[in-house]
Amino acid sequence: MKPSIFFVPRCDWHAVAGTDASARLGVDPATGLASDEAASRLASHGPNVPTGRPGRPLWRRVLDQLVAPLVAVLIAAGVVTAALGEWVDAGVILGVVAINALVGLLQEGKAEAALAALARAMQAEATVLRDGARRRLDSAALVPGDIVLLAAGDKVPADLRLLHGKALRSAEAALTGESAPVGKHCDALAADTALADRRNMAYAGCLVVAGQGSGVVVATGDATEAGRLSRLMAEAPDLATPLTRQIAAFTRRLLVVIGLLTVLTFGIGVWRGEPPVEMFVAAVALAVGAIPEGLPAAVTVTLAIGVARMARRRAVIRRLPAVETLGSTTVICTDKTGTLTENEMTVRRLHAGGMTVAVTGQGYAPEGRLTLLADMDGTPIGAACPGPAADAEGDAASDARSGAAPHSPALRELLLAGVLCNDARLRRDDSGRWSVVGDPTEAALIVAARKAGLDDATLLAVFPRRDEQPFDSARQTMATLHEIEGRPVVCAKGALERLLPACARVLDADGQPRPLDDAARDAIVRSAAAMTADGLRVLAFARRELPAAAASPGADPGADPGAGPGAGPGCSTDAARARLPDDALAGDLVFLGFAGMIDPPRATARAAVAACHAAGIDVKMITGDHPGTALAIARQLGIVDDADAAVLTGRDLARLDRLALGDAAAHTHVFARVEPEQKLRLVEVLQLRGEVVAMTGDGVNDAPALRQADIGIAMGQGGTDVAKEAAAMVLTDDNFATIEAAVEEGRAVYDNLVRFILWTLPTNLGEGLVILAAIVAGSQLPITPLQVLWINMTTAVLLGMTLAFDPAAPGLMTRPPREPGAGLLDARLLRRTGLVSALLLAGAFGGFELALRHGLGLAEARTVAMNLFVLVETVYLFNCRAGGPNPWLWRGTLAMLALQAAMTWLPWFNAVFGSAPIGAAEWGLMAAYALGCGLVIRRF
Ligand code: ADP
Ligand code: MG
Repeated sequence: MKPSIFFVPRCDWHAVAGTDASARLGVDPATGLASDEAASRLASHGPNVPTGRPGRPLWRRVLDQLVAPLVAVLIAAGVVTAALGEWVDAGVILGVVAINALVGLLQEGKAEAALAALARAMQAEATVLRDGARRRLDSAALVPGDIVLLAAGDKVPADLRLLHGKALRSAEAALTGESAPVGKHCDALAADTALADRRNMAYAGCLVVAGQGSGVVVATGDATEAGRLSRLMAEAPDLATPLTRQIAAFTRRLLVVIGLLTVLTFGIGVWRGEPPVEMFVAAVALAVGAIPEGLPAAVTVTLAIGVARMARRRAVIRRLPAVETLGSTTVICTDKTGTLTENEMTVRRLHAGGMTVAVTGQGYAPEGRLTLLADMDGTPIGAACPGPAADAEGDAASDARSGAAPHSPALRELLLAGVLCNDARLRRDDSGRWSVVGDPTEAALIVAARKAGLDDATLLAVFPRRDEQPFDSARQTMATLHEIEGRPVVCAKGALERLLPACARVLDADGQPRPLDDAARDAIVRSAAAMTADGLRVLAFARRELPAAAASPGADPGADPGAGPGAGPGCSTDAARARLPDDALAGDLVFLGFAGMIDPPRATARAAVAACHAAGIDVKMITGDHPGTALAIARQLGIVDDADAAVLTGRDLARLDRLALGDAAAHTHVFARVEPEQKLRLVEVLQLRGEVVAMTGDGVNDAPALRQADIGIAMGQGGTDVAKEAAAMVLTDDNFATIEAAVEEGRAVYDNLVRFILWTLPTNLGEGLVILAAIVAGSQLPITPLQVLWINMTTAVLLGMTLAFDPAAPGLMTRPPREPGAGLLDARLLRRTGLVSALLLAGAFGGFELALRHGLGLAEARTVAMNLFVLVETVYLFNCRAGGPNPWLWRGTLAMLALQAAMTWLPWFNAVFGSAPIGAAEWGLMAAYALGCGLVIRRF
């Protein structure tokens, strides 16, 4: 049977009901498209990728190269020269212009390609319903009719007609320009509703900032609203950075000075009675020689190389300035979970009904056993202990899956709540390895329950979920509503400090609720503190039975009635209408107990922290976790080294004023129970103290802090699209060590830039000075304008540019960060420039005069001067480099020497450039002078 081709009907999707929309698009919202249908639609509709704006055409790019002021001057000079009939000179000048444009084009292309590759690396994913199951797909694979599930933090992957929504809000600035997030609903609207007011649609490229929902894809790729506006395309990469701007400003000033000098030179020459045409060309040569025209290109290329190097080390740069800012980072504020730690949670301890239970086993494999550790008073269990402990301790053969501990009713209730209030799934691949889909913290609870013989799939089927309040790092809790024996029951888990105060009762060992008195509270807090001190992540559990009546009317007015996403399709019973009230966790909860899980520190993190410290960079851990856990992990990683190091909590942050907070923040390295919103304040106070702050984040609420930080860093795996969008850099492996690597590369990039400037400024100045000196002194030009052009163009590309490929210097990460405000032109650079240009001037001018005095012809003497110039530049290049192998440097040097040999000995070159062969003695002297210069500069 030939599959029929599906055509998207023309329709005002916002004006029809959701069910109608899915019907017209040929999809059952409960199961999504079948994969073969999706494949055939993909074949006929093409991938969900907007073509975007076409790049600049070639002629435009060439033109852009030619309109630079310097090039315009050259072209003018070439034309004037041609008009005077000096065909050879005109040809060479225009040839130089052409080569210059070509090199510029290639370099620009390289930089743009590097950035475009990064944009591809950032390919987004979407959660889609296909064949009745949720899938994570590359969003390019979406087709009209797909059912897409949205959650806070997602970027909307295509144009959607919303089917379900719960407190769904979306930021649509990308499309409508309106920055405030817009609330969404699912009801049909009038056909003439304007785009910005279509609350029942979600448009590609917009960001979901709150809530959850689902929708049916009505348009993909170029057919989307954003595709039509071609706004989905990543904005054209901005190649400007603070440094490039600083350099641009600097070169503008330089141009003025050089312009004045040129006019002066011309004036002096003409006043001395030299032919004005010759003086005009000489003046132009002076300008060309003195202007560091290779600089802007070198900066861009160096930055692009840095971007590529960072990408190889798993740090994807989204904004070019980050490359250089990274090098001056003074503080890194990092998440704990998943960045410093593996984010592989394993439950080790369970505390319920006054008893503590140990859980054995490795990773996510649900194999292990539960054994009783301590009874209600914390007394370790001996050999003869009545009750559930007896079997667990006594009989090694007793199956771990039906271990004794779950016979404790309280423990069973705790594990049940852990499984029900859970969005994670456990998966076993073909090779038998276990992995998780979803939050590792939640997956660990499923593993623990399975170790105790409780099966999550069965439990979820028996106690279906009716509503939910997803985990929110500001609330630090998550709650779900279940139908248990016909009654609505809230299952909750979260931070102990949040849940315990809301509990009025506690389950005792027999599973009976007892009033929770102060002594019992204290005991619970103490047991939990003991776990956190061991670095365990503690999660508390509670439950609440709702009166059947109270639970029903929609407590959440923004939501679509009867359409809780967890409820799934097809729920039609009365209980399915039950809703989780907003104040579900406000009080009257029954405390079930808590779990302690390990999350081992990343093996590479400790060394990376040490490397940062050696590099003078402060590392601060910012976490939503408990202070005890945070401190324990911080100690293991060397972030702090003593057990009673200060920990600032979110509450402290809220209490302190700006000044006090700045002081405290500067001297504290562990921040615990911090809400995402507070990260922004932290960044601000640290910046006020002059720090250059790198800050990590993954959630929607982290976006403001990421934007405010000098370097916002988002997690590539665990992060939301919102965070990635706000960040300047994305870690593809979520690993702290990658930040350290990126900082190192950032420092290397900056170093290479400074080195290029260090090399280029004196050589340019020297070239200008030689011509200026000759004209002022009234002597013959030691280097003709053509020769200046030649030297200038060839050395910039073959010598200077190779510095961009220098690897990081060995001592890069053992010195303090660069001063944030430090200018480019420091005293050292100025001194160097003075010295080297003097050496160049002396060499070229002196060599020229000496050669003439020893009876060499003018052409020979000029060849000496030119070669001296190039040799000193070459030797000086090695003064400027960082060390470490750089094959490009040697290749460039050899090519340069080969060209100079050609210039000296090839008749064709001799004819065009007015050079002449010179002897071995001259070469020996020149080499000696150049090497001598190298030694002098080194000592200086
Ligand atoms: P971090 O990522 O810095 O470790 P989180 O914001 O993830 O911090 O977690 C903060 C606290 O919120 C945890 O200590 C825990 O008590 C609670 N928590 C974490 N994950 C969940 C979850 N999935 N459900 C309920 N509570 C959670
Ligand atoms: Mg977390």
